[in-house]
Amino acid sequence: MTEPKKPMAEANRISSMLNQVLGIERFPVQVNEVAQEYSRQCFKDSPIDRIQGEDLDGFDGLLKANKMRSKWLILYNSARQSDGRKRFTIAHEFGHYILHRHQQDIFECGDGDIETGDNNERDIEAEADLFASTLLMPLDDFRRQVEGQPISFDLLGHCSDRYGVSLTAATLRWIEIAPKRAVLVASRDDHMLWAKSNRAALKSGSYFATRRNTIELPRDALAHSYHGFDLADNRTGRARSWFCREPSSMPVTEMAREAGQYDYTLTLLLMPDAEWQGPNHDEEEPEDTFERFIRNG
Ligand SMILES: [Zn+2]
Repeated sequence: MTEPKKPMAEANRISSMLNQVLGIERFPVQVNEVAQEYSRQCFKDSPIDRIQGEDLDGFDGLLKANKMRSKWLILYNSARQSDGRKRFTIAHEFGHYILHRHQQDIFECGDGDIETGDNNERDIEAEADLFASTLLMPLDDFRRQVEGQPISFDLLGHCSDRYGVSLTAATLRWIEIAPKRAVLVASRDDHMLWAKSNRAALKSGSYFATRRNTIELPRDALAHSYHGFDLADNRTGRARSWFCREPSSMPVTEMAREAGQYDYTLTLLLMPDAEWQGPNHDEEEPEDTFERFIRNG
């Protein structure tokens, strides 16, 4: 049994090498070349030999050793993926290679495993995702892209272009460094497909258990078909319509955008910290928290 490697540490080690060789304006990461070159240099006995697209039935990505375990193959589903999704899938399989290849000879990764894997019950899938997003979107560079600017799907779209990943992957990365509570919800036909809360939101109990329950969007959600949202829409409402435990004065900023090649809708929910929110404070909290939030954005 080998020492389990930390996904972020491994990805950051590769990123600093790339920074040294290519400088910091080096995006998007050429993940095919990086995976092959890095594995050849560091693991001569069992490198990644080939990366290719194939019409994979039921999988998005696959990592597989030959019989001798002397070389590895990465396949990605060429049939139904965008370029951003392909890049993420290859980085995810590269993550399995770096982190888990001593545990298995073959990794078959499906739709639910890649990109949104934080909701995943299987640790190795979440680890491969973390490796992929760390490698493709290093946080120091990501912070420089968004610093001092109000967050919007346009700005996140710029990040998704820069890193060559989907809008979903870029937004999931951003909520990790969001200055406040942030929740990303993916929905189709007025129901949540999955949702991801950042640490601050999770700690305050603002999350949706989409794996266990079928959850409908609130009737007044921008993305609800009842509403018929406009892409430019960005509005502040009351957090309670999403999270019944939030005090009535708690505001939420909501923005929505079509994603996944228009297959589903992303809703980004932003709320101020919940620190002040203790028992019995609902009544005492001055109503102007909500007003102040609207004024200050
Ligand atoms: Zn996987």
